[in-house]
Amino acid sequence: MLKIGITGGIGSGKTIICKAFGALGIPVYYADIQAKQLIHTHPALRTKLTEAFGRDTFTNQGYNTQYVASIVFTHPTELQKLNSIVHPFVKADHAAWFLRQQAPYTLYEAAVLFENGGANQMDQVILVDAPEELRISRVEQRDGMSREAILSRIANQWPADKKRAMADWVIENNDKQLLLPQILSIHNELTEQ
Ligand code: ATP
Repeated sequence: MLKIGITGGIGSGKTIICKAFGALGIPVYYADIQAKQLIHTHPALRTKLTEAFGRDTFTNQGYNTQYVASIVFTHPTELQKLNSIVHPFVKADHAAWFLRQQAPYTLYEAAVLFENGGANQMDQVILVDAPEELRISRVEQRDGMSREAILSRIANQWPADKKRAMADWVIENNDKQLLLPQILSIHNELTEQ
């Protein structure tokens, strides 16, 4: 069973495209959502994060996302530290999940995949791409995030050209090309392999 990574910058449309693959019967592991879930629930991960970022990392209300985001999105080395702590837990969780699946291929969805070497664990990688302004306006509408906050997330991700050169497939989600034919074409090739 092939492991296919699917990645793309913030607001590129990975999640809605994964939902379409899901509707075709393809199991999707949402790595960023699972990472958050593990941060909230895994005691050993909680201990490691508290050691790294201090007592404010968790409050009585649980994981203090705002506090950690304020550190990691202004200090790239802290973001690397966060990722290096969380990633092994996600990797183990994904490995266990993968063993339970039965399908011609599975998808592993993550906003950052080339940047952290995760792409090397995949058989192939799909990149979802969209023009930056369109991504910004989609995220503004979806989350009400400020333009500055979105730009600081984008600054922590590789530029599209660099990722396009490394991807096996590119889905253009630019409001000009239809998504479904692109998705079906990849799905058909992957199910024929
Ligand atoms: P993130 O990395 O932030 O999780 P993402 O790549 O998963 O982002 P989505 O959540 O799938 O992006 O898309 C961002 C927003 O743009 C969502 O509200 C989604 O519904 C909308 N969107 C994405 N693609 C399209 C499209 N082709 N037409 C209309 N709306 C779209």
